[in-house]
Amino acid sequence: MEYTEASKAKIDAAREAYNALTDAQKALVTNYETLTAAQARYAELKAEADQVAADQAAAIEVVAKIEAIGEVVYTNACKAKIDTARAAYNALTAAQKALVENYETLTAAEARYAALKATADQAAADAVIAKINAIGEVAYTDESKAKIDDARAAYDRLTGAQKTLVNNYAKLTAAEARYAELTEIPCKYCGEIHDSSIGGGILAVWHAILYFFAHLFGLR
Ligand SMILES: [Zn+2]
Repeated sequence: MEYTEASKAKIDAAREAYNALTDAQKALVTNYETLTAAQARYAELKAEADQVAADQAAAIEVVAKIEAIGEVVYTNACKAKIDTARAAYNALTAAQKALVENYETLTAAEARYAALKATADQAAADAVIAKINAIGEVAYTDESKAKIDDARAAYDRLTGAQKTLVNNYAKLTAAEARYAELTEIPCKYCGEIHDSSIGGGILAVWHAILYFFAHLFGLR
C-alpha cells in the first residue's frame, strides 16, 4: 500500500462499490476489514506526507532568512538579520532543523559579527585611552580642564563592554581629583577651603570683605 493517487483510486472505488450494496449483500463481503485497514493506512501515510511537507516549508523559510543575512557588516541592520534568522532557527523542531542545509552560514555570520564587534569595541576604547594619556600633568588651566573634560565625555559615551577595555581609567579619575584639588584655593582670611554651598559662599564673601579691610588697615 503506497501513498499514491492510484492507491487512493482503488480504495475509493472499493468503498463506493461496497456502499452501493444492500445490507444482505454487504454481509457476504468476507474481506471488508481489508478495506477499512487500507483506508486507515492511507490516512496514516497522508498524515506523514503532510508533516514532511510542513517541515520542509518551515525549513525553507529559515533557509531564506539565513540567505538574507548576506555579507556580514558591523551595523544594527545586519545584527537584526542575524538575530531574526537565529530566532527562527531556534523555533524549529529537531526534524525541521535537520532540513536547514545552510545552518553553517548562520553560525559563521554570528562568529564574524562577534569579531567585528570586538574590533570596534577595542578601537573605541583605544581612542579614549589615548585621550586619557593626553591629559598629562594636571594644571589649573583651561587647557588642562578641557583635556580632562574631553576624556571624561568620551569615556561616558562608551558602552559598558567598551568601558571595561579602558585600562587607564584610574588615570582619568586621578586627574579629575587633582584638578579639583587645584581649584580649591584656601581662603585668604581664615585659611580654610569654603565649600560651594550657599552658606559656604556667604562665608567666603564675608571673609573676603574682612580680608580686604584687614589688608587696608595693615592688620594682615
Ligand atoms: Zn574664610
